[in-house]
Formats: sequence, structure tokens, C-alpha cells
Amino acid sequence: PVILGIESSCDETSASVCVDGVIMSNVIANQTIHEAYGGVVPELASRVHQQNIVPAVQQALLNAKVSKNDIDAVAFTRGPGLLGSLLVGVSFAKAFALAKKIPLIDINHMQAHILAHFIGDKNPSFPFLCLTVSGGHTQIVLVKDYFDMEIIGQTLDDAAGEAMDKTSKILGLPYPGGPLIDKYARQGNPDAYKFPEPQIPGYDFSFSGLKTSILYFIRDNVAQNPDFVSQNMADICASVEKRIATILLNKLQKAAQAYGIKDIALAGGVSANTGLRLGLQAMAEQKGWNSFIPKMEYCTDNAAMIAIAGYHKYLKGEFIGQDVAPMARMAFAPQPPKGGAMAE
Ligand code: ATP
Ligand code: MG
Ligand code: FE
Repeated sequence: PVILGIESSCDETSASVCVDGVIMSNVIANQTIHEAYGGVVPELASRVHQQNIVPAVQQALLNAKVSKNDIDAVAFTRGPGLLGSLLVGVSFAKAFALAKKIPLIDINHMQAHILAHFIGDKNPSFPFLCLTVSGGHTQIVLVKDYFDMEIIGQTLDDAAGEAMDKTSKILGLPYPGGPLIDKYARQGNPDAYKFPEPQIPGYDFSFSGLKTSILYFIRDNVAQNPDFVSQNMADICASVEKRIATILLNKLQKAAQAYGIKDIALAGGVSANTGLRLGLQAMAEQKGWNSFIPKMEYCTDNAAMIAIAGYHKYLKGEFIGQDVAPMARMAFAPQPPKGGAMAE
């Protein structure tokens, strides 16, 4: 089957074509308008999605060398995400499916981040553990099958990506700060400064205490030396990155041991982070794990992950009606068979 995938949950408008399980195109239109605001402005994001969605789909079809008439089903991100942003993708998908008389497939964005591991031929085997770390989520997921997933641990407050972005804001860097922290960290000493590791039971996480300790650390040092941040940017970023990566990896290790699982995957935007990628590889070597780290273009938001998830749902024959509504919050499963109420 030929699946058109649509992603519009946050600030990336993306379209992808998947032919028989192979990704043929993945067009991502990034929104730069939010940089000036230090974070994604929902009202602006939905307007830019509205401008970008048709060109993104046209380019995805062109790159994949398929025509509109070749598409067998449309898969779209139903949630979680910003409601106004989701509405653009959901409405586009509905209109396309209606016009072409083809089925609709609704996809959970967080499941899609994980299912990006089934693009290409080096796939993890079920059951595996996935550490999903993104702008809005931090989860350790037990993946039993394509759509049978259980969250065994998650953040009690901020997400890992949020911790990156909030730290970068404290350091005066533009949004999104994660990639910049990564860039500076490569030149710094990760042991220059020690930030606390929170003591949270089980496989859950907390990042708000870390954020506060970074805020006070910077405030106290800047009081002594106004140029403290600019003079020590690389060491600060390397130390913050190391702490975030060790918090994540220590919990992952604990879960892997308890569940006796050796296929370990990373997903979501923060899985683009160099320190975390290298840290997981080192841990995998030490523990004898098979580690799975997504290609860069499949870490942050993209429609290829929606298209591949759509392909696997298509094989199961699981479609959704035209009355489907987006969900700002969306649990993994079970979902009601029909549209359901619009959340928030
Ligand atoms: P969610 O998937 O939870 O709905 P989202 O879609 O906004 O949230 P993603 O696009 O998956 O999140 O990830 C974006 C996050 O990844 C941002 O917080 C960004 O700072 C972070 N990020 C991206 N690249 C890097 C990197 N190299 N190092 C650290 N963080 C990074
Ligand atoms: Mg984004
Ligand atoms: Fe995401």
C-alpha cells in the first residue's frame, strides 16, 4: 500500500510517503517564527501550518514520484499536541481522504516516535524498552507490539527537552535550545560543575529541581562575575547535558535489569543529543544490550514516523471515521473505536 503521512502536532509541518513499508519521502517545514518568542506560540503555529501543509504534501508526493491517485490511505497525528496545530493536519487528512475515497488512519504521536525504529531494516524485536525523550514527554515504554505499549515510567514535572530548553533560556540562548546546548557541550568539560541527581522512586523522572538548581547556580555566579555565562558556556552546557543524560540512562538501566530486556531504543527529539547517544552506546556495550538510536531526521518531529505507523495500522485494517477529532492529550490505548469528544 501507498500511505500518505501527515504530522502537525507542534511546530513542524511534515508530509511523508511510505510505499509497502519503505519511506520514499519525508518533507519537514520548520517554523522559525517562534525563535523570537523563546518558545512555540500556539496561535502562530497553527497559522503557519495552514500555510505550509499543502506545499509540504505536494513536495512529498513529488519526491516520492507518486501521484495523488496512487495513495491508498492517509495517516495523521491525532494527538497529543497543540490543538490548533493538530486541527490543521487532521482537517487536511479528512479532506484528502474524502476527496479520494480512501481510508483514514489516526496515529498517536508518541507511539509514532517509537515506531520510527521500524523505518529501515535494523529493527528492535518485541518486547523492547524505549526511552522516549522529547519537548513534551519523558517516558520509559515497554513495547510489546506495534500498538501494544505500556508506559512504565515518566516525568512527574518537566520533560527532558523542556529541561534543555529552559536551561538554554537561563543561559540567554534562543529557542529551541537543545541543539545549542549540544553544540557548546562538545567543547566543554562535563565534570566542570556538579548538578544534583533527583531521588525519585521507580522508573519515574523529575527535572524541575535540576532547573531550579541551574537557575540559582547561574544567578550566584553572575553576581560575582557578570561574564560568567559567556566565559564558561561550553563547561556549563557539557555539565548540564551530562547530568540530564545520566538521570535518563540510570533509570533506563534500572528498568532494563528489572524487565530482563536487552533490546533498548531511544526516541524523540532529545535522542538527537550527542551526549545521550554516546552514553547509551557506552552503556549498551557494557551491559551487552542491542541499542537502537534513530537517524537524526527521525528524532525530532517528522511525518515519516506517522507514515510507517500508518502502514502497520493499515496492515491490521484499523481505520477511523470522518467524525474523528484531534486530542490535545491522548493515551496509548485502548482508544474508543469512533471519533470521541475533542479534548481540551
Ligand atoms: P512531543 O513529542 O513530546 O509532543 P515535541 O514534538 O515538541 O514534543 P520533539 O520535536 O520530538 O518534541 O523534540 C523537540 C525537543 O528536542 C526540544 O526540546 C529540543 O530542544 C530537543 N532537542 C532537539 N535536538 C536536540 C539535541 N541535539 N540535544 C538536546 N535536545 C535536543
Ligand atoms: Mg518541534
Ligand atoms: Fe514529537
